[in-house]
Amino acid sequence: MEVGKGRIFIGRLAAGEDLLASLTDICSGHKIQMGVFSVIGAVKNLTLGYYDQEKQEYVQNLDFKEEFEILSCLGNISIKDEGIFVHAHLSAGARDGKAFGGHLMPGTKIFAAEYHIQELTGGELRRQRDPETGLSLWQKED
Ligand code: ZN
Repeated sequence: MEVGKGRIFIGRLAAGEDLLASLTDICSGHKIQMGVFSVIGAVKNLTLGYYDQEKQEYVQNLDFKEEFEILSCLGNISIKDEGIFVHAHLSAGARDGKAFGGHLMPGTKIFAAEYHIQELTGGELRRQRDPETGLSLWQKED
């Protein structure tokens, strides 16, 4: 689908808050129903998951209690179950420079985080359960 550029938001997320919830709150507050975003900064801990393709469920596979750099947190915003849904993946750098990554899950607390959100317009991006993958995916175009 072809989309247009909407509003752009840039700012800082509050320290100590949950990263995924904070992003969702900003999108809800500004009524951003479709968009893409990036975040860089640092977190106090790291809770990431991956999708087990055989079991067709998300598994929380990383739950580190130490601090990390947010090397790259990328994601998109669409509609799921009539609500604004933020889907984010994160690459995190540890003290020794090693990187970990995965699907951002609730529980990752912000130390400092700078976001950039690009709202998209001109259509509706809605997630529905996909029977093949078990995931809530964007609907296929006709
Ligand atoms: Zn994901």
